[in-house]
Amino acid sequence: ADAVGGGGDRGGGMRRLRVFFLPFFAKGHLIPMADLACRMAAARPETVEATMVVTPANAALIATTITRAAARGHTVGVLCYPFPDVGMESGVECLGVAAAHDAWRVYRAVDLSQPIHEALLLEHRPDVIVADVPFWWATDIAAELGVPRITFNPVGVFPQLAMNNLVTVRSEIIRGGNAAPAVSVPGMPGKEISIPPSELPNFLLRDDELSVSWDRIKASQLAGFGVVVNTFADLEQPYCHEFSRVDARRAYFVGPVSMPSNTTVHRGGDGNVDCLRWLSTKPSRSVVYICFGSWAYFSSRQVRELALGLEASNHPFLWVIRNEDSSGRWAPEGWEQRVAGRGMVVRGWAPQLAVLAHPSVGAFVTHCGWNSVLEAASAGVPVLTWPLVFEQFINERLITEVVAFGARVWDGGRRSVREGESETVPAEAIARAVAGFMERGGDGDKARARASELAEHARAAVGEGGSSWSDIHRLIDDLTEARAS
Ligand code: UDP
Repeated sequence: ADAVGGGGDRGGGMRRLRVFFLPFFAKGHLIPMADLACRMAAARPETVEATMVVTPANAALIATTITRAAARGHTVGVLCYPFPDVGMESGVECLGVAAAHDAWRVYRAVDLSQPIHEALLLEHRPDVIVADVPFWWATDIAAELGVPRITFNPVGVFPQLAMNNLVTVRSEIIRGGNAAPAVSVPGMPGKEISIPPSELPNFLLRDDELSVSWDRIKASQLAGFGVVVNTFADLEQPYCHEFSRVDARRAYFVGPVSMPSNTTVHRGGDGNVDCLRWLSTKPSRSVVYICFGSWAYFSSRQVRELALGLEASNHPFLWVIRNEDSSGRWAPEGWEQRVAGRGMVVRGWAPQLAVLAHPSVGAFVTHCGWNSVLEAASAGVPVLTWPLVFEQFINERLITEVVAFGARVWDGGRRSVREGESETVPAEAIARAVAGFMERGGDGDKARARASELAEHARAAVGEGGSSWSDIHRLIDDLTEARAS
């Protein structure tokens, strides 16, 4: 193992609190956890020494974030361990970087990490272990070391509560099957939420890795010291309150761990900065930004329809296409010439936080991955929802039905989390949704106003004395106290 970064004694006083962070192998987990590590170190530079415990290729993805924090004088470092051998090419260590058909290997690597984590943590003996959801064994290792285990949950409390409550009726959902009417989510405070079985995460409808490990993961979360969630209270009340009551011994709502800003351009990879210059040539709030996160997969047919829909919408657009999607022949004949100047395609990785912070961006077509949801809300950008997999259809309901800062792209046919079950969204529907949402005086106005309010709330939450600021400090205080006792 190779340690980078400073730390150690605090000028003759008490030793800093050595906090180790262990993220799952996906950018949507790795990025916010690195941000959390930096935020904790920045909140109490005298108290916290943060270490990201990662595999080498994943270390490279967060290197810029860590280096920047260290340059500001915060004690944040990296400790590397080898990625388990699961038959993937060297340098491929997370979902999205791995091809879709290799996703199972990434989950296999999770299982193989257990003994590696045990050896590493027992050797380095940190004061606190902040471990991602799938690493249930972290609670046992922490107990052996006599230190707190914190679970970092990279999705919000609304989807977490919904999934927990749906697990209690899982056998009924399975009995009803895929064609049953919408399931009403039990035990949710506030508004009734219902979801058709086809839009529920796989593990609720059939057996997969997660249905097998769910109970163990939940038990380890509840037995641990507490749970940290990347959200802010004003986005998810009354769910935060309910979550604190049922889902954690202590809950801390500390987000957004990274506020949208024009300087955050190398978060999670080298972002394409040309697109920021391009955005600056467009009128205020005129551009539609389209991005589906770090690993979701689209068929070439769907990518084609999206291309035609964006063309027909007549609005400027900035569209991020992942390499895997762009490898096929997706662009319709002459499309690139026809949209030249009005549309820009980024292949690979966009600096999403900087894009969302850009004043030219007026709407975000998103797959509703939790980070994207939170980033849009924090940037005050209203969204058009296009959920694809896992809990994204649940997140969509928070956006469209509860908080009301967005609308669905499409409702005209079968939507499903399961590959091959969902219908291709047609170009005309996409064009209609985008044009309707962007029109001033139209349907998007309410969502725009609500998004602006949310940005204010997010800024206030992370500002001095705000709810997330207070929760970060409460977390550090509680951990310091736990060490002393
Ligand atoms: N992201 C980015 N550039 C991209 C695609 C994604 O910076 O081109 C970031 C995005 O800002 C977010 C994360 O990657 O922080 C994706 O997380 P999310 O939960 O939205 O989706 P996931 O990738 O987990 O499906």
